[in-house]
Amino acid sequence: MALLVERNTTGAAHSSPVTVAPQLDELLSSWLHRLAYANGVAPRSFARVLGLNPGMWSAALDLRLPADIGTLLYAKTGVAPDQLAAMTVSQDLPKQLLLPLRNNGHRDSSSWLQFCCRCLAEDAQPYFRRRWRLATRVSCTEHGCRLRDRCPSCLDRITVFDQGELVPQHYCVACGYDLRRAPIPYLSPATRTLDRCIDDICSLEAIARSPSGPVLIRRLLSIPRFAGGYYSTMLLANLSAGARAYSAELLNCPSECQEDNTTDDEKDCRERRLHG
Ligand SMILES: [Zn+2]
Ligand SMILES: [Zn+2]
Repeated sequence: MALLVERNTTGAAHSSPVTVAPQLDELLSSWLHRLAYANGVAPRSFARVLGLNPGMWSAALDLRLPADIGTLLYAKTGVAPDQLAAMTVSQDLPKQLLLPLRNNGHRDSSSWLQFCCRCLAEDAQPYFRRRWRLATRVSCTEHGCRLRDRCPSCLDRITVFDQGELVPQHYCVACGYDLRRAPIPYLSPATRTLDRCIDDICSLEAIARSPSGPVLIRRLLSIPRFAGGYYSTMLLANLSAGARAYSAELLNCPSECQEDNTTDDEKDCRERRLHG
């Protein structure tokens, strides 16, 4: 953590790096981005501080935190190793249901992270939740609104790990849009209920250990096939938040689903262009 040490030695005598407290269900990468910001370091540069290559460095740490980095973070922030490990997704979330670490691809393809704009707007320190990494999640437990996985202004994915400027993580890296202001996409009450049921199933530790766990996981990944329609040949984890919500709506109430496959994000973007 050379940069933090440098800041220390050049700053006030015996000052410590600024630390930030992990928040409820916070993803390790989200905490690291906040830690970087609090110490006056942009996330892209913070990768170097930790001795890591750029790219999706923080998202990779969510999957596995090497012991030496855990030790370094503990020494510099006082956040205990078990607390750091609890922020990763390796603990209790079925890894087959995690969104893959993808940062490019077609508009309908998945992104590694989703968010609820209302959660971000209500947070004193906006942060990303561990559960937003699950492909089976399409709505927010707290607000019931549909999750997003792209900036509604430029349609880019969440790329805070690549942020070169010193700005909080709720601003789009590509265009600077404040993600807290994103319009809330529609999701039917029936699909919200289905989403909650699926989340309850995935919360059970049994899914990872029971003999029926792998079958259940395969079925969940096949939701687009059961739903039919445009995405029926795709696996759930490979689809964007909009496409997964479309499949869930189709599963619930096929007659209400429109033929229009335009995603909510594209509609938002079009509206924005039309109305300035
Ligand atoms: Zn929310
Ligand atoms: Zn943007």
